[in-house]
Amino acid sequence: MSVRACIMGHPVAHSRSPLLHGHWLETLRIDGAYDRVDLASEAFADFFRALRRHGYAGGNVTIPYKEAAFRLVDRREPAAAAIGAVNTVWYDSDVLVGDNTDWLGMIASLDAIHPGWDASAERVAVLGAGGAARAAAYGFLSRQLDVAIVNRTRGRAQQIADQFGPKISVHERKDLPSVLATADVLLNATSLGMAGQEPLDLDLAPLKRDAIVYDIVYVPLATALLKAARARGHRVVDGLSMLLYQAVPGFARWFGVTPTVTPELRALVAADIVRPEKAEAR
Ligand code: NAP
Repeated sequence: MSVRACIMGHPVAHSRSPLLHGHWLETLRIDGAYDRVDLASEAFADFFRALRRHGYAGGNVTIPYKEAAFRLVDRREPAAAAIGAVNTVWYDSDVLVGDNTDWLGMIASLDAIHPGWDASAERVAVLGAGGAARAAAYGFLSRQLDVAIVNRTRGRAQQIADQFGPKISVHERKDLPSVLATADVLLNATSLGMAGQEPLDLDLAPLKRDAIVYDIVYVPLATALLKAARARGHRVVDGLSMLLYQAVPGFARWFGVTPTVTPELRALVAADIVRPEKAEAR
């Protein structure tokens, strides 16, 4: 019997999830489908609660419904409960279960691209304190790392520290040089540097030579931060890597096979990101 999953959000037209799950379904020869479901805010709760009645074994939730999904599921996995947002749902018998796989996407991509990256790491710097930063903090804490957060709105960073405990510290932007000087990983979890947003204005000079620079923004694929980091000889991870790895657990839940992030998949999704970038440049 054909199994169906979907991505729910608004808008979802530009989501790359159908492309990547579609690639896995095709290459693994699974009889299934992964659809886009664009839902107006007044329609989300009813659709989401009746996901199975709509023919879906589960799905992903994206902007702006990750917090609503968190409230609406029957059960939350520990990561979702800690992060306060749900991006992946499935059924356990009749129970709608919600998880957050963004943190895993970040950690799994680091593990795959820079094996052993955390062997001697002690401290990371996270820019931002939104949903993605919360997921990042959760992920880094799962590896027992200290997390220094710098955010425009200090209160949001403080909320993460209050919830996650003493391994999280909150810093002002003016303290960035000293924060960078002691960080083994620098992760941008703000939307700065994304196409159409303000640039991320950051001097990488104080950063340790062997620090890894991670930008979770993936449009453009090569952000100004990643270009500057590469030019200084840092190891890097891009936001596309996180996007690909965060998708693995959901696919495994719905379709029963754990897929692999391959260079072929990466090239497929990268081409889809670069295409509109090129069109815009013309
Ligand atoms: P969010 O909850 O809206 O948080 C946005 C963050 O960016 C906040 O910390 C915000 O600071 C900061 N920010 C926005 N505009 C700013 C400005 N002009 N100056 C300084 N700081 C600014 O969003 P999110 O869900 O965390 O997502 C953040 C980014 O991560 C987005 O670009 C998203 O596409 C990306 N993302 C990527 C993946 C992936 O798989 N690669 C997964 C999830 C998210 P304030 O708190 O001060 O407002």
